[in-house]
This record gives sequence, structure tokens and C-alpha cells, in this order.
Amino acid sequence: MSGLHIPIGTPDGSRTEHAENLLAPNPSAMTLDGTNTWVIGAGDEVIVVDPGPDDQAHLSRVRDRLGERRVTTILLTHGHFDHSGGARRFARMVDAPVRALDPRHRLGDEGLGDGDVVTVGGLEIHVYGTPGHSFDSLCFWLPADRAMLTGDTVLGRGTTIIARDGGLADYLRSLDRLRAAAESLDAQALLPGHGPVLPDPIGALDGYIAHRRERLDQIRAARAQGARTPREIVKIVYADVDRSLWPAAEMSVVAQLDYLDSP
Ligand SMILES: [Zn+2]
Repeated sequence: MSGLHIPIGTPDGSRTEHAENLLAPNPSAMTLDGTNTWVIGAGDEVIVVDPGPDDQAHLSRVRDRLGERRVTTILLTHGHFDHSGGARRFARMVDAPVRALDPRHRLGDEGLGDGDVVTVGGLEIHVYGTPGHSFDSLCFWLPADRAMLTGDTVLGRGTTIIARDGGLADYLRSLDRLRAAAESLDAQALLPGHGPVLPDPIGALDGYIAHRRERLDQIRAARAQGARTPREIVKIVYADVDRSLWPAAEMSVVAQLDYLDSP
């Protein structure tokens, strides 16, 4: 669907001083309200983070929203299609390069990785490597707003999944790292890839870390009850979760079994 119907009460238009969210119209159980496309900038230059799926109406809306401002760079939090699918088309529309950790998603010469600092209109964006949800997940710290863009590493509601190209050990390390960064940097907001802005970064990250530990305990318990296959474990551990999410839950269980069984 490529209409521009945006229901009231969604994260569309949510913002901090220098970052604004334009919600893509791709809601689903996995993408919540849809993908958040973040426009970050000061003055007449902006960076666009995650153009979203390949949806001409959404991409045109983002471009129109820029007015006279110029896109210097497009950044990707990771390569999953709901964030990156429209990147090439948008890059052509605004004549800007695409920078991502995964070379397959880049357009232009520049890569992107942990420790990089990207500047736009006098603002800095500091890149944190946060693998786990996917192998190529990055978070972007915006010091001017004391805000961290978290992609799918932390969502505005619920919890994220560990995709086939991610890993739980990495993910837990990334959450710990983000927790430490949020504390030392005095972060005031998490700007997620889906769902609303989180105004309590440490609370949100503590919740995520506790949730992961709890799920691991539940999986150990399910195994102790005799559950063996990922599917059997999902039926026990995710009994309270909507069935449409069970395939994703099964992927998460596989990741957790890998983690529990790795030496
Ligand atoms: Zn996503």
C-alpha cells in the first residue's frame, strides 16, 4: 500500500530540536506503526536516516518536507528492507550518497562504522556499532539533542527480534553498551526505527535487558519441562503473544538456543 493515510496518534511528526520523524505507511505486526524516517539537520543541510521501504509516495513526502534544505547524506541504521528498500530511489531523487555498514547497501565511496562522526550543518552524529538485531545494526548519537537513534535495536514499543543475520550474544553486549553510553552521555531520548520516541533511555534499556534475561530463563524452564524444538518452546514461552508473531518468535528462540548452547 502506498497511500499516505497516517492515523492520528502515531509517531509521525514526533521530534527533538534537530530531528523530525516522517512515518512511512508500512504498518504491520513487525514494523508497528511503520518505519520511522528521521530527518536531522540545522540550517539548510540535512541528513536522512532510513528512507524506509521503496514507496514513492513516502519518499516524495520526505523530499517535499525538506523544502529548500539539501540532503548531504543518507544513513542506514541497518540493511533490512523496511529501512533500506527506498534508499537508492531516494538517493537519486535528492542526489546524495548512501552510507551503511554493509557495503551492499552503500551508494558512493564512503562506508559507515563504529566511531565514525558524520557532520551536517554544524551538527555531529556519532556512530555506534550495535550488532545483534542484525549483524550490521548501527545507532546514531546526536549530541546537540542528547538523543540516540536506535534503529531496530530498541523499538518505541514492545521488544525487537533477533533476525537470522543477527545474534543474541552480540545483542546483549550492544544493549549493555547502549546502557552505559546513555548513562555517561546523559541521554534524554531514544529515537527508534519503529514506534514513538522513548523519553527515558536508561529505563527503556534496563527494561530491554531484563526482558532478555527473563526470556532466557523461560527458555531454560521450557526445556526443563521437556520442550525440544523451537516450535515447542514458542508454544510455551510465547503463549501470551499474538500468533501472527510466532514465526518471528521462533527465529528469536533459535537465536536464544544458539546462545545457550554455545560454549
Ligand atoms: Zn525495521
